[in-house]
Amino acid sequence: VSPGFELPLERPSKIICVGRNYVGHAREMGNSVPNEPLLFLKPPSALLPPGAPIVLPRVSNQVEHEGEIAVQVGRRLRLASEDEAREAITHVLALNDVTARDLQRSDPQWTRAKGFDTFCPVGRPVSVESLNELGMRLESLEVTTSVNGELRQHGRASDMVFSIPFLLSYASGIMTIEPGDIVTTGSPDGVGPLKPGDVVRVQIPGVSSVENPVEAE
Ligand code: MG
Repeated sequence: VSPGFELPLERPSKIICVGRNYVGHAREMGNSVPNEPLLFLKPPSALLPPGAPIVLPRVSNQVEHEGEIAVQVGRRLRLASEDEAREAITHVLALNDVTARDLQRSDPQWTRAKGFDTFCPVGRPVSVESLNELGMRLESLEVTTSVNGELRQHGRASDMVFSIPFLLSYASGIMTIEPGDIVTTGSPDGVGPLKPGDVVRVQIPGVSSVENPVEAE
């Protein structure tokens, strides 16, 4: 982590991600919506605090923002039902699934495209209790992404192909989800390039946000 910045959460054992979970984003990438969740992982070493710079690696010419709604669980999930998964969610946070799009196209696996250091900015997690106090539910969450103050993405949890509890239940049938693990739920349409000097902000309005400058390696 860059000096002077502190992660707003404890480093999780893993960051579980899902591809193509909004119809609009699948379409803009030229893909159809999958029949079941398309999972991948980002390494915890990619986590980046608010304010710290996203570093564009030399080996990519097309790094893009993906603003997403992410959640954390408070207890271990293994073969969990959707109800069990919903009950285990303790926090919601804004997450930027920064992606080297050219490398995502060239590599059959996404580890490199999604895994560079600084490619996972995260906002401060907000507890589900305080969401409820605000009269919000998981299904009512929205996510926006702006670059240099200009709105680029706007998605709603209610528009996801697979709901948040379904994603957690599905993932828990593959791997144990540990307390503190982050599950991020896919990006709406409007993904686009980042260049040095940009400032990118992902926001779950009224809940959590993360803003980062962008710099060249
Ligand atoms: Mg994504």
